[in-house]
Amino acid sequence: MSNCARLAATKSVASLKTPAPHPAAAVEDIGYADDVFTRETMKKYLSKETCKRLLATIDGGQPLDPSIAGEVAHAMRHWAMDRGATHYTHWFLPLTGSTAEKHDAFLEIKDGQPVQSFSGKNLIVGEPDASSFPSGGIRSTFEARGYTAWDPTSPAFIRRHGNGATLCIPTAFCAYTGEALDKKTPLLRSMQALSVATKRLMKCFGKGDERVTITLGPEQEYFLVDKHFYLARPDLVMTGRTLFGAPSAKHQQLEDHYFGTIKARILNFMSEVTKELWQLGIPAKTRHNEVAPAQFELAPMFEELNLSCDHNMLVMEVLRQVADRNGLVCLLHEKPFAGINGSGKHNNWSVAYGDTNLLNPGNDPHQNAIFLTTLCAVIEAVDKHADLIRASVASAGNDHRLGANEAPPAVISIYLGDQLADVIAQLEIGEPKHSKHSGTLKIGVDTLPPLPQDATDRNRTSPFAFTGNKFEFRAPGSSASCAGPNIVLNTVVAEAFNRIAGELEKSGTVGKAEPGKHTQAFHSALQKILQEIVKSHKRVLFNGDGYNSEWLDEAAKRGLPNAVNTLDALKALVKPENIRMFEKAGVFSARELASRHEIALEDYRTKVVIEGNCALDMAKTLIMPAVKAEYRETLAAYAEAGKSEIVSGTVALQDDLVKLGAGLDAIRSYCIELEEAIGKADSQEIIATMTALRAVVDQLEKIVADDKWPLPKYREMLFLY
Ligand code: ADP
Ligand code: MG
Repeated sequence: MSNCARLAATKSVASLKTPAPHPAAAVEDIGYADDVFTRETMKKYLSKETCKRLLATIDGGQPLDPSIAGEVAHAMRHWAMDRGATHYTHWFLPLTGSTAEKHDAFLEIKDGQPVQSFSGKNLIVGEPDASSFPSGGIRSTFEARGYTAWDPTSPAFIRRHGNGATLCIPTAFCAYTGEALDKKTPLLRSMQALSVATKRLMKCFGKGDERVTITLGPEQEYFLVDKHFYLARPDLVMTGRTLFGAPSAKHQQLEDHYFGTIKARILNFMSEVTKELWQLGIPAKTRHNEVAPAQFELAPMFEELNLSCDHNMLVMEVLRQVADRNGLVCLLHEKPFAGINGSGKHNNWSVAYGDTNLLNPGNDPHQNAIFLTTLCAVIEAVDKHADLIRASVASAGNDHRLGANEAPPAVISIYLGDQLADVIAQLEIGEPKHSKHSGTLKIGVDTLPPLPQDATDRNRTSPFAFTGNKFEFRAPGSSASCAGPNIVLNTVVAEAFNRIAGELEKSGTVGKAEPGKHTQAFHSALQKILQEIVKSHKRVLFNGDGYNSEWLDEAAKRGLPNAVNTLDALKALVKPENIRMFEKAGVFSARELASRHEIALEDYRTKVVIEGNCALDMAKTLIMPAVKAEYRETLAAYAEAGKSEIVSGTVALQDDLVKLGAGLDAIRSYCIELEEAIGKADSQEIIATMTALRAVVDQLEKIVADDKWPLPKYREMLFLY
């Protein structure tokens, strides 16, 4: 892109009208959940009896009563049409990692007359042609049949597009054989597994039957770039990341973007996003500038896991669509720009029993037996299955992030903080007797109120950190669905809960005291179990700096796995012991797991080949011609200078000629190598050659005249105004 074109682009952006800020909205008219088939809406549109039966499924986990489907469908259609919808779709999460929808109109022609209809069958089951979705070998194209099945636990909602609207019904997607072809089905199965295991464990503690709620708060990071720049970068369009680009002089060194004042254009974008999300009943709460320039974060309040996963898919979609309307493009790739931070999706996870968050330590965690048991179960689960947890976040995009400077390392370890580390250390040698308490913070300014100090400091470098009343898994990539990591987390913690419950049951000490009390024998049995967990799994605990290279040596000494890339990480999905665990938990069959393995591998390889081809194309048709032009011009000037009597300048020209010429040769030979690597579909070789090619191109970017450089530069793209 020439300098002029770039200027024109920025100018036209500057001339985009900044919408007038909305007046402050009163609480009652923020339109929260207006486009959701909520409980209140159900009460309005359904008979009392049907509403009660539907809620029994949603809240009580009762099997869905098919006889109410007709009435629910009728009510949903009326409500949706009242809100302007003309179509409905089963909305599902295929293994592509995005969402899928196929719209059907409510319209039918009966006896030559148009009528609106939406039956119970339309609501409960759909039969999309499944042959073009990835199945990883579960289904061949001639067995195209797939089914979508209504998930009543995630409420139906309306999506608006321009002046139209569509009723979306969250569904699970499976093959003719009943095997899951999506991300929701195994997620729901893993939630069921953890729910059953939690109830079993709580029974050991003498607790009555309560509802188990698994909670998730996903913090979504993203970049915004101007649409004009985006369209002038084939790499961003094709791959979501820049394959070339020299670092700008200033990027994130001054740490001035993080939490900085949000610029008006961005704030307008964010306000529009928030408004749309609220309308969809998504509790968007926090927004701020992130570390890298042009990087931002949106965090909703936590919700029940299945709903939260669905909502995060919508968050990503809304971010993209609203960006588009504002002359921006939202980049959800894990590493759009080299040399600065990438984007993650911090996965805040916990389990509640009734109203009690099992990961709430309370004031005296050393006395909180249920909390300590839950904590130890997570420690056991994460250490035992670090390979699977790592595999759950493996992708071509995330490979650039994990282990790089800002992101957590690929080694999975747990940060507990001082207070819990101390309690766990006491537990290892006997009964924990006290919890460290922190006092008040002294800031040294008399007018400021005394602040209570948290018992635990934060640690940003740990991939799996205890953060007050939940675990924050920081390795998931920004573009990924939340389902993958949470399927694994639920399953491995369910296994640990079941094992601990089994030991307690075997000890013969369960249920020997009056309700709410425990015998000394129960306490001793529990203490012994927890002590053994700490002894066997303390190697996974690490409170230090996860970015420090010494930690990698230490982790290797402790025998912690370190899968540095996706190919390495995915091997965990086909280990016999892991297959057995998933089968036992009823989360994946061996075939389903093999299909996930195959799809993830294929996705990785395909993405790398696309990147290779894109880099090749850009090097040959954009970068080479620009460098050649510069070379030609320099050569002509040099020849001209030779004719003149004045010799000054020839050294500089000669210098440039050597650099440009060497650069051209290097690009040529790396292009040949890259073509060969692509021909062999050797992903590691493609990546290595692309990296080498990029290094040459990025050097040339620094000497070729700015107006001849064919691509928008980092310094232009990263500073939005
Ligand atoms: P951070 O300081 O880590 O950036 P944020 O406030 O951005 O924190 O995000 C924290 C997330 O954790 C929010 O989505 C919040 O609702 C969520 N969260 C809080 N409590 C729980 C819980 N018990 N279970 C799951 N998520 C939780
Ligand atoms: Mg945050």
